[in-house]
Amino acid sequence: MSGVKFGLKRDTCHLTQLMPSLTSLSLTESQTLLQRGEISSRELVTACLEHVSALDGQLHAFLYVAAEQALAQAEAADKKLSELRGTGLPISQSTMPLLGIPMAIKDVLTVEGMPCTCGSKILEGYVPPFTATVVQKLQAAGVIVIGKTNTDEFAMGSSTENSAYGVTHNPWDVARVPGGSSGGSAAAVVAGLVPAALGTDTGGSVRQPASFCGVTGIKPTYGRSSRYGLVAYGSSLDCVGAFGHSAADVAAVFSAYNGRDPLDATTQDVPAANITLGTEAVSSLKGIRIGVPKEYFIAGIQPEVEGKIRAAIQKMEELGAEIRQVSLPHTEYALPVYYLIAPAEASANLARFDGVRYGPRVSGDSMWDVFYKTRGEKFGDEVTRRIMLGTYALSAGYYDAFYGQAQKVRTLIKRDFEQVFHEVDAVACPVAPTTAFKIGAHGDDPLAMYLEDVFTLPANLAGVPGLAFPVGFDAAGLPVGMQLMGRHFDEAMLFRVAHAYQQATDWHKQKPTL
Ligand code: GLN
Repeated sequence: MSGVKFGLKRDTCHLTQLMPSLTSLSLTESQTLLQRGEISSRELVTACLEHVSALDGQLHAFLYVAAEQALAQAEAADKKLSELRGTGLPISQSTMPLLGIPMAIKDVLTVEGMPCTCGSKILEGYVPPFTATVVQKLQAAGVIVIGKTNTDEFAMGSSTENSAYGVTHNPWDVARVPGGSSGGSAAAVVAGLVPAALGTDTGGSVRQPASFCGVTGIKPTYGRSSRYGLVAYGSSLDCVGAFGHSAADVAAVFSAYNGRDPLDATTQDVPAANITLGTEAVSSLKGIRIGVPKEYFIAGIQPEVEGKIRAAIQKMEELGAEIRQVSLPHTEYALPVYYLIAPAEASANLARFDGVRYGPRVSGDSMWDVFYKTRGEKFGDEVTRRIMLGTYALSAGYYDAFYGQAQKVRTLIKRDFEQVFHEVDAVACPVAPTTAFKIGAHGDDPLAMYLEDVFTLPANLAGVPGLAFPVGFDAAGLPVGMQLMGRHFDEAMLFRVAHAYQQATDWHKQKPTL
């Protein structure tokens, strides 16, 4: 996208000196200061926009920034904040607990009036006329959307290198990827460009970039939150997730956007989760059973990753958790199963991008020629590869052998989790086998890239929730992320365990120097 950035006028930026402290605040800290009237939303939003201006040339986390609109909304939020303060009701307990908080949204979710490219040339210039339900819910809770973040094209990838608009750089080392596909959102949070952001997770796209960037990220239970306004990739796998600096921050965002949506028939009719995590001293993990699945500690995993994960598990034991060895025997099939099911669903979902309904059109001699040329020119290599793979797996004669078989094995993977959750309350394992890799490292080897997803895919296939958070750094100073997975609809357990760990450690407070 050309003209990605915006021209923020200098006179709106009187807060330059305050900027570093404002942009290093966590979401919950900002909430408290806004509540007390010690900072205004306008100051907070201005500081974020200034930070984007200063750093995003280097990071490229954003595809679009809505500066003027965000500032206008911040002024309105400040008025409401002072009204709410007048009532004496704590803002966190009001209907607008996130009033005045700036956030960024991955560019596969629609926000009315803001371009939505999905990181693809085939949607260049497309401006959706409606807002995704999850974003609407956040806005109703008081969130100010400051812009849209970079993503692998149609969320297909593990590094943001598949974005048609260029890679996002990892704030810990700009020669490395931030992970993907929600790499823009993860990088924006750890660099302090926004206190929190939305991403999506079809096979790991929230948890893996959270791990590579050293932030906390939730992939909720499938069906926990609405997909209305999320451009579909793998419809039976896609989930909207969130990033923040801590379990407490992410829980606050998740609480505001989850819940049943009449516009998405796959959302479940369960009460919406409302999770608040206190700031009291170290909470105990007594009575909680954490499983360590042996299939997630395999040959090829970076030794420092394994070391940090084992140390974090030990810390949880010190906090009172009971640690048990468990087995998820079908784990090794998750990768081939996912790379049949996800491309199969993608091949159907992406059929709508034909140059007629949305975005640009390449002219041709006939209708078929228009489809052929538009799709041929505007889709990137990875998306084209997946459409071809998926179409093949669904074609007559191959459907039973590939897609049908993959669905059967998917059921076995789901059963593994059901079994294990009779024995334990959560399982703990690495998010990814390595820390952030160098830009270009897997450039000509899609299979090496797919292997990065080996530990995140099972949760999507089983539909269970997963939470990623930092538990240390490797020798190169890159964050290592732990993944906790839990029972369907038991995100609260994952947040509780991560919160207790974060109360006792400070890995989540480490920030890159930029
Ligand atoms: N890396 C995985 C893929 O390429 C997962 C992506 C995602 O979760 N959106 O499909």
